[in-house]
Amino acid sequence: MKLISLVPVLILSVVFAASPLYAKNAPPVKTPVITPLSVDEVETLVFMREEEKMARDVYLSFYEQLQLVIFTNIASAEQQHMDALKVLLDQYAIDDPVVDNTVGAFTDPGLLALYESLLVNGFVGEIEALYVGALIEEIDIQDLIDAIAESDHTDVIQAYENLLQGSRNHLRAFVRNIESRGLIYEAQYMDQDQVDEILDNPMERKNKGKRKGKKGGR
Ligand code: MN
Ligand code: MN
Repeated sequence: MKLISLVPVLILSVVFAASPLYAKNAPPVKTPVITPLSVDEVETLVFMREEEKMARDVYLSFYEQLQLVIFTNIASAEQQHMDALKVLLDQYAIDDPVVDNTVGAFTDPGLLALYESLLVNGFVGEIEALYVGALIEEIDIQDLIDAIAESDHTDVIQAYENLLQGSRNHLRAFVRNIESRGLIYEAQYMDQDQVDEILDNPMERKNKGKRKGKKGGR
C-alpha cells in the first residue's frame, strides 16, 4: 500500500474521533474510582501500620534475647502485615508513619511507650515474653475488630480481616507455648469469652473459605 492511499483513512479517523457519535460508541476508558478514606479511617490505617511494626519489633527483640523460634516466625508474619498495610497507604496516597524501619523507632509516642514497657516485661524470661506476645495479639485483635467496624472500604476491610486471622493464629500459638509449660492462660485484654472462643478453634489456613461460590451474588 502506497503512503498516499492512507491519507483519506487518517483524515476519516480524525473526524470520527472528534465526533460525539464516535465518542459514544468508543469503549469506556476504565479509570479506577477510589473513594477517599474518611479522616478516621486514615488515622486508623496509619495507626495499624505502626502497631504491626510494634509487634514485629517486640518479637525480633525477644528472639534476639531468648532465641525462641516462635518469635522469629511470628515476626516475619508481622512484616507481611506491615507490607499489606503499606500497599493500602500507597493506594490511598497516605504518608507512611514508618519513616525509620529500625527496630524500636516509632512515630506514634504511645506505641513507642508501649513497645518499651512490653520489652521490659518480656525480658524477664521466656514465660513473661510469651505472655507479652499473647497480650500484643489480644490488643491487635481488638483494634482490628474496631477498625473493621469503622471502615466501609472493601479493600481495607479485607486487609484487616487477613491480619485478624493471622492475629488469632498468633494468639493460639503463644497460648499453646505457654500452656505447654504447664500454665493455664487467662485473657489479659479482651473478654475471657472472646479469647476462649478463639482458642477453642483450630489454626486457620490462609485464604481458607475465601472462594466465592457463584458469580454476581451480593
Ligand atoms: Mn499482625
Ligand atoms: Mn500477630
